[in-house]
Amino acid sequence: MSHIAWLSKKLSSGKILCQACSQSCKLEEGEYGICGVRKVELGELRLLVYGLAAAVNIDPVEKKPMFHFLPQSRAFSVGTVGCNFSCKFCQNYEISQYPKEHGHQIIGQELSPKRIVEYAIENKCESIAYTYNEPIVFFEYTYDTAKLAHEKGLKNIYVTSGFETKKAIDLLAPYIDGMNIDIKSFNDKFYREICGARLKPVLEAVKYAYEKGIWVEITTLLIQGKNDSDEEIRNIAKFIAQIDTSMPWHLSAFHPMYKMLDVPCTPESTLHRAYQIGQEEGLKYVYVGNIDDEDYESTYCPSCKKRVIDRRGHIGQYVINKLKEKGICPYCSYRIEGIFD
Ligand code: SF4
Repeated sequence: MSHIAWLSKKLSSGKILCQACSQSCKLEEGEYGICGVRKVELGELRLLVYGLAAAVNIDPVEKKPMFHFLPQSRAFSVGTVGCNFSCKFCQNYEISQYPKEHGHQIIGQELSPKRIVEYAIENKCESIAYTYNEPIVFFEYTYDTAKLAHEKGLKNIYVTSGFETKKAIDLLAPYIDGMNIDIKSFNDKFYREICGARLKPVLEAVKYAYEKGIWVEITTLLIQGKNDSDEEIRNIAKFIAQIDTSMPWHLSAFHPMYKMLDVPCTPESTLHRAYQIGQEEGLKYVYVGNIDDEDYESTYCPSCKKRVIDRRGHIGQYVINKLKEKGICPYCSYRIEGIFD
């Protein structure tokens, strides 16, 4: 389904600038953006996947991962085809890279914003997550859905690589309550050569989303020999700590995938080392993901150090939230940062 992409601007050159993400594509008639789902047709930029969901699931919110956002709740999760990145290790490449690898073909099941909200309510979800592929490439679809969701009392989550423009974040901020943003590396070369993107816009988006009052959690997938040196891990931790030491940091294990089949799985020792570095840099909430380890997946009160949210088993499978209303620690009354009601 095609829909006008209103996050765009006509340039004096006659080209159209897409203002959704920091790829800043300038497109002529008939051209597609890097994401493969935005195209100039009859002089207008159009979003080709509006109302066309390529992946739909009901997930524990912990699986996004969002650990300080309505714990133990369900997130109605939706994604389309297309992505503005081309990560060689993409876990969802079948949908994210689909248009680029199938001659601009678009696929998906018809699902209007209204139906998404209705399904979410029918299935007792407390939030809608825009996930699986990069949500900023289907910005207008997410915006309309998120606005409707808020009217019905649901919250909204962006699971993103952090390439949103400031203009996009300004428009999203009233409706997007939480974001999980990847900081995939602290090295621009990694972003350019492995992801087809750049580091600086990601760091700017993290800061700006935080300043706009969106609850932000960070994820880093650690890949052996690519982004797992002590120095790089410490630089990411320092960057987060300088914004807010209560911003959660999820350290995730890599598994060989897509075009990166020659790199082994991340050893547990690397995840534990990164966890330690995060703590040394003053981060209050560091988590290890993609392995079952309750000690490293649970939340501890930064004040009294007691375990206040237990997480065991596969992510989201077993969660016991001991916090009182508004995230208050039951042992010492410290307020755990996040969105808890
Ligand atoms: S959303 Fe797509 S078309 Fe727009 S700037 Fe990003 S990659 Fe280009």
